[in-house]
Amino acid sequence: MKKGKKLYEGKAKIIYATSDKELVIQYFKDDATAFNNQKKSVIEGKGVLNNRISEHILSNLSQIGIQNHLVKRLNMREQVIKLVEIIPIEFIVRNVATGSITKRLGIEDGTVLKEPLIEYCLKDDALGDPLIADEHIYAFEWAKKEEIEKVKKMILRINDFMIGMFRGIGIKLIDFKLEFGRLKINGKDEIILADEISPDTCRLWDSITDKKLDKDRFRKDLGDLIPAYTEVAKRLGILHEQSNVSVVNVTKLSSIKKKTR
Ligand code: UDP
Repeated sequence: MKKGKKLYEGKAKIIYATSDKELVIQYFKDDATAFNNQKKSVIEGKGVLNNRISEHILSNLSQIGIQNHLVKRLNMREQVIKLVEIIPIEFIVRNVATGSITKRLGIEDGTVLKEPLIEYCLKDDALGDPLIADEHIYAFEWAKKEEIEKVKKMILRINDFMIGMFRGIGIKLIDFKLEFGRLKINGKDEIILADEISPDTCRLWDSITDKKLDKDRFRKDLGDLIPAYTEVAKRLGILHEQSNVSVVNVTKLSSIKKKTR
């Protein structure tokens, strides 16, 4: 498959065309952004880890019947995905209240929710991805009611599966963000899971110590983001000692090269 021209560049990923018009290549960058792009950095090795972790989670989800855009991982930073029309909504799923919701509603940080809470945000960087109600989705025709009903069912299954998967490796799934896209399959309009699922888009706390193993290490200047993401990958069983060393070495090597330039 030939890699074609760049179609889109986002904050953490780049999408390239391929010789097949139904498929694109998703490239994971090392760029980290937070607070609506006000805080930016490059964290070497982050894209490699997110590519592997997202591949692992999405392929496990497809095994339980959650259709998603992943076709296959190509290399350290790239995967082939199905081209979809992204629904312009970020679906935030919360099991424990932390982050923006605690400030917005004055909820105590760490409050365990009785049921998973789904929030909707409009995908619009210029507006700072504002929180919206489902009535806004229908009023402005960002998605149909049947589509949101389907998405909600998929979200609850994804959440159940991911809570169990992470619990098994000593990690609490606090919250995460999902995106969905429209695709014609055998002439029928379908909704499939898209984007990525990684420590960039989830909050993951160690079950015993509550240590943050996610992008909050960057947001809150806690440091050691690569060791935390590596820990998640290792516990998921996708990084063996050898490849772990090579991710760290690639990271170290490129920073040494930078310094000596
Ligand atoms: N999230 C994300 N992308 C976004 C906004 C949120 O991946 O643009 C994820 C975030 O990593 C967290 C969850 O969604 O796991 C809930 O985020 P919250 O609304 O608390 O965001 P904050 O404003 O605290 O970053």
